[in-house]
Amino acid sequence: MVKTLEHGKDLPLYATLLGNPTFHDFVLACDRDLATQARRRGCRLCRGVLHSARYRRKPRGRLCRLGPEHDWRFSFCCARDGCRTRKTPPSLRFLGRKVYLAATIILAAVLDEGTTAARLQWLKEVVGVDRRTVERWRRWWLKIFTKTSFWQIARAAFIPPVNEDALPAALLERFSGRATEQMRALLRFLSPLTGGQVQAF
Ligand SMILES: [Zn+2]
Repeated sequence: MVKTLEHGKDLPLYATLLGNPTFHDFVLACDRDLATQARRRGCRLCRGVLHSARYRRKPRGRLCRLGPEHDWRFSFCCARDGCRTRKTPPSLRFLGRKVYLAATIILAAVLDEGTTAARLQWLKEVVGVDRRTVERWRRWWLKIFTKTSFWQIARAAFIPPVNEDALPAALLERFSGRATEQMRALLRFLSPLTGGQVQAF
């Protein structure tokens, strides 16, 4: 269990984080940077110019009101006739094809480390996820995330090794700082996963 969750019994610091528009603005700004970089590199097949082909993806699991700019997933399409290849850059807000914010997914799985009736009730009412969804997310961390080539390489950097049975909490606590900083660092760490090459929940 992550130490930072002990500050509040039913409303952990991560809830404060997800309810903070500044945090959402921060991850959106990161996504913009990632999108700009991806666009600059051009089409991955023909090196052609990329045009914006963003699409609407309203994530659930937010705890504050946000502007419409938060509802778009950056994506591009090659401008060359006959190619038109789509390129979707990595995102800190969306993990793979799921509708939930990446941060919410981490949050819910972390909360599930110390499941109590009160916490599950909170997830259900405030974040809008049920027990089965939380279980599915946990399985993703334990069965799918641990098998990714990304993690197979990245885990070697952690000494002592991260306890994979306690993911994602065990990973989150390896990043220093307060809850906000830990979450940002973890999202940044996970961003190579979000280009769509990982199986969704
Ligand atoms: Zn192309």
